[in-house]
This record gives sequence, C-alpha cells and structure tokens, in this order.
Amino acid sequence: MKYDAVIIGGGLSGLVAGITLQKAGKSTAIISTGQNALYFFSGTFESLQEDRRIQELFTEAGVRVHYTPGVRLTPMGSFRESALSLEDIDLFPSAKIGRKALIVNFLGYHDFFSSFLAEGLEKQGLQCRVRFLNLPELERLEQSPSEMRSVQIARVVDPIWEKVVQEVRLLLKDEDTVVLPQVFGLQDGAVPDRIRQGIPARVVFAGTLPPSVPGVRTQMLLKKRYQLLGGVYLMGDEVVRAHVHEGVVHSVATRNLDNHYVEASAFILSTGSYFSKGLVANPFQVYEPVFGLDVDYRENRNEWYNPAFAEDQPYMHFGVKTDGQLRALKDGQPLENLYVAGSVLGDTHPELGTAAGLAVRSALAVADRIMEL
Ligand SMILES: Cc1cc2nc3c(=O)[nH]c(=O)nc-3n(C[C@H](O)[C@H](O)[C@H](O)COP(=O)(O)OP(=O)(O)OC[C@H]3O[C@@H](n4cnc5c(N)ncnc54)[C@H](O)[C@@H]3O)c2cc1C
Repeated sequence: MKYDAVIIGGGLSGLVAGITLQKAGKSTAIISTGQNALYFFSGTFESLQEDRRIQELFTEAGVRVHYTPGVRLTPMGSFRESALSLEDIDLFPSAKIGRKALIVNFLGYHDFFSSFLAEGLEKQGLQCRVRFLNLPELERLEQSPSEMRSVQIARVVDPIWEKVVQEVRLLLKDEDTVVLPQVFGLQDGAVPDRIRQGIPARVVFAGTLPPSVPGVRTQMLLKKRYQLLGGVYLMGDEVVRAHVHEGVVHSVATRNLDNHYVEASAFILSTGSYFSKGLVANPFQVYEPVFGLDVDYRENRNEWYNPAFAEDQPYMHFGVKTDGQLRALKDGQPLENLYVAGSVLGDTHPELGTAAGLAVRSALAVADRIMEL
C-alpha cells in the first residue's frame, strides 16, 4: 500500500502531524521504535501558551489542557514559569501558594521527593508536614522497589481514589494545601479533579521520577485519537534505511518488515533528539542515522558542551538542517518530499519555539505543507 504520508517516530510531533493529516482525509502510517519523551513529561508544554488550534487538537483527543500566566511547582520544590499544561498541573499567579502544606506520599515509594518539596515550599514561607499513606492495596508492590513505580501505583490507586481521599482527609489538620504525587488518572484523566473536589484544601499534584503518569496518559490518548481517525501505528518497529532517488524519497524499509518497503508521497522525520536516537553523536560527528541528512553542529568537538554542567549546552541546539518549508537538506539540497518535525530539528528554527512547543508547532507546519500538495 502507498500512503499519502509516512511518519517516522511516534512521539508528540509524529502524533500531532498524524492526527492533523488524518483529520484532513490523508492516509498515513506512523512507524515508531519505542518510548518517547512523553514518558518523561512534566505535564507542561514548554514554550506554548494559549492557541486555539492546538487546544482544539488536544481537546478532541481527550487531553485536557489549561493555561494561566504564572508559575508551576516542579518535582524539586522550586517554581517555574507556566506554559500550556495538562489539567493535573496547577498553575499559580505566584510562588506563594498557601500558608501550610501537607505533603502526602505512599509508604515505600521513593520516586517522589517529599523532602525536597518541603524544603522548596518552606523557602516560600509555607509550613510543611510530610506524611505517608500505608494502603494495604499497595502491599504487593511494596515488596519490590522495581514494582513500586508511578504507573504501577496509578493502576492500583485510580480505582480506589475515594479511599485515598478519605485517608488524606484523616491526615489533614489545619493545612490549606495538600501536595500529592502525580500518580493519578492513568486511564481516566478526571481522577485528579475528583480528588481535588474531595479534599477541603488546595490539592497540588507534583511530578515523580519517570515514567510520568500524565505523559503516558497523553501518549495513549493521542495514539488512540490517531487510530480512531484511521491512522496506522506500527509500534516497536524501526526505519533502518530509505530508498531515495534524484532528491525524492520513494519508500522506507523497517527492521520488522524485512525487505518490504513502505511507500508514500511524503515522509515526515520526527525521530526526536539524542534521547530517542533521532540524532546520534560519536567522538567525531553528530549525524542523522536514517537518511544521513545535513546536521547543523560544530566541527570542533570541544565546542559541543559547556563544562559548567548546569549551563546551557551547545549540543542541545544541534539539529537537522532544513529549507524554509522544513524539507530536510542532504548535501546542501532539499529532499523534495521529506519534512522534519520535533526535537530532531534542535534549535535550527527558533521561531517555532523549544521543547514541546517546537514539537507541536513544527508538526502542524509540516502537516499543513503536506495538505497543500
Ligand atoms: C527526557 C525528556 C523530558 C522532556 N520533558 C519535557 C517536558 O516536560 N515539557 C516539554 O515541553 N518538553 C519536554 N521535553 C522536550 C521534548 O523533546 C518535547 O517535548 C517532545 O516531546 C519531543 O517530541 P518528538 O516527537 O520530537 O520526539 P520524541 O518524543 O523523542 O519521539 C521520537 C520517537 O521517534 C522514535 N524513533 C527514533 N528513531 C526512529 C526510527 N529510525 N524509526 C522509527 N522510530 C524512531 C523514537 O523511538 C521515539 O518514539 C523533554 C525531552 C526529554 C528528552
């Protein structure tokens, strides 16, 4: 079968492009190796604020988002400027979020930094108390630290959220704020809100170590929406090479489909950055592994990184080169029908924003170009 577009990489950018194209009546397939950055997602779409088109796309997929100018609480107890966020994430006008906070964790759960949170909130003048819930339902997970992880906990606590509410109410004294780990609403995004309504204090959900429950839920919802619109999602497969002739990509070959090539009129490269192997660095170069595209990076390896670890790192800005229409460049020439979206672009298009903002805006831009064809 020949598709209108084949999308390589099924993270945020691949899914946004796929949903947009399917909605416009195009036939598409997404081929994606595995986990993507959404599994590590804070719940905040950096460099995006209010945007009707983007909010509509998320709402139609069941991804509930909101935006208020101000700050959000990070998992380390500091505050960060707000951006378009999942409904689980509270956005505050300022870091003075209350007077007294009760921070509640689950006994034996080490991926939620209650003491850092307490330290951070105390710096903002809140008095903090940390308490642990010992739920018999979590006993089986508690026996093995590798089982006591966010997604496994979410599977157990979502169906018993009313019990969690009761237990937290028993712990609550005169606090006006309750901080809970973000381990609610894996299957049902309404659970965090029900918990908020059940507790007579402001409830704030703070991030945990990965996997991110709100991120996994977002991935599941976007993927479901894509498939409901008729998109074909080939999970666990990897594009290993492409058939390119005279500047036109005709087809791609995958690891699982053996010698069978997948054909399309247009292709989108949304393979992510180093983390997802969309870009690969070796001691000599930074390269794009599927097509061997031109990459914007510094020749001198000593200029790739800043020895001050916490500072901005130059290598994070490297990305695949494109022309003004986001078509990939190879040997300085655009490939006619290969578009690039998401973090594989690095910082080559600052006007599209950074992080999730870049992923969503570039995906919409390439989908628009393909719809014009
Ligand atoms: C750990 C981490 C956490 C982040 N957290 C946030 C956050 O909280 N907020 C925010 O705004 N931004 C965050 N970002 C920035 C992030 O890059 C973007 O938000 C966005 O999710 C990136 O989406 P993407 O689709 O470009 O790439 P990815 O999400 O990386 O997806 C790329 C996909 O392509 C697949 N792939 C790669 N090569 C191939 C191949 N050859 N064949 C088939 N599939 C392939 C990968 O397996 C992966 O599934 C984070 C980034 C990282 C690395």
